[in-house]
Amino acid sequence: MSTTIKAYGADDAKADLKQMNIERRPCGDDDVKIDITYCGVCHSDIHTVRNDWKNSQYPVVPGHEIIGRVLEIGKNVTKFKEGDLVGVGCMVDSCQECSSCKEDLEQFCEEGMVGTYNGKDKHLGGHTFGGYSTSVVVNKEFVLTIPENIDEKGAAPLLCAGITTWSPLRTWNVKKGDKVGVIGLGGLGHMGVKFANALGAHVVMITTSPDKAKDAKTLGAHEVLISKNGEDMKKHMNSFDFILNTIPVGHEMDPYIALLKRDATMVLVGAVEPLKPFHGGGLIVGRKRIAGSLIGGIKETQEMLDFCGEHNIVSDIELIDMKDINEAYGRVIDSDVKYRFVIDMASLKN
Ligand code: NAP
Ligand code: ZN
Repeated sequence: MSTTIKAYGADDAKADLKQMNIERRPCGDDDVKIDITYCGVCHSDIHTVRNDWKNSQYPVVPGHEIIGRVLEIGKNVTKFKEGDLVGVGCMVDSCQECSSCKEDLEQFCEEGMVGTYNGKDKHLGGHTFGGYSTSVVVNKEFVLTIPENIDEKGAAPLLCAGITTWSPLRTWNVKKGDKVGVIGLGGLGHMGVKFANALGAHVVMITTSPDKAKDAKTLGAHEVLISKNGEDMKKHMNSFDFILNTIPVGHEMDPYIALLKRDATMVLVGAVEPLKPFHGGGLIVGRKRIAGSLIGGIKETQEMLDFCGEHNIVSDIELIDMKDINEAYGRVIDSDVKYRFVIDMASLKN
């Protein structure tokens, strides 16, 4: 029998989030049932609640940066036991058979991966509900091990912001001495700065917010470039080996393309929408590249978490109660998050 649990969600694109009840399936043979302790607040949660990507199913219960303790395991589960510290990111299922899944790239599953929220729920029907809730039941293949030595609250954002920035840095082989730009100092950007620094790169934070400059350096940036300052942008032209672009909306690309060196790549992870037209010449002269990247596979996510355990890397967070979520959304939209909100799920349980 399914269980009714407490959650927080939105009934339509204009509504505030409020408390509601949802159903969770029983813990099946291949499942892990998790008591959620913390859940990060990703800008994608807001895009989905507001139907920015025109594919939201209501009610939306967001949350794909889930941390918790194992409550129960199915009989085929050997990797986890009751009480283990675990995480769940943006996916809860995939076909496990297509070429993408076989190459550990479940995020590109040819059948379509099942999102932690707003995905197709093949067990209960309807759509999946995310981590703004007290518990979740997830197929064992999509449950991650969280190193016990890192701060549990700060680990939550690693499940999305962490892997989404780690994966392109690794895919494009960012290494010691590379000049790496990270655009946008929010949830993703601050993890990008930490990881690029840990990989030995010379990190430049590219931001619209001069008041974040000091923090950027504390987080690991060697330089800060204010993107609105044309003179400064000129000084950095044709000098970057790699740029990670986390801007959440469509924007002018030309000023950033101009920063790339010959043969260098800028990877987009933020703007899932039309970009402003940009000049082909900016790419042609210098053989420059623009690419995209979507989260990362489960194997790569575990590698990132293990790296965080070894290097003691977590997210810089502001802990909030569940009831304060609507206010937190407003601050994320105003680029006023330092640098990830994480919900203390005890505040929903009590
Ligand atoms: P966030 O915390 O809101 O950070 C975004 C940052 O971008 C802001 O803090 C701001 O930094 C900068 N920014 C905002 N609007 C801008 C504009 N119009 N022009 C230039 N810079 C702007 O968001 P997030 O959670 O890091 O997520 C970033 C984006 O990535 C979202 O769209 C999210 O949906 C997407 N995402 C994608 C994936 C993926 O797999 N590809 C995964 C997770 C999230 P400054 O103040 O420093 O300028
Ligand atoms: Zn996310």
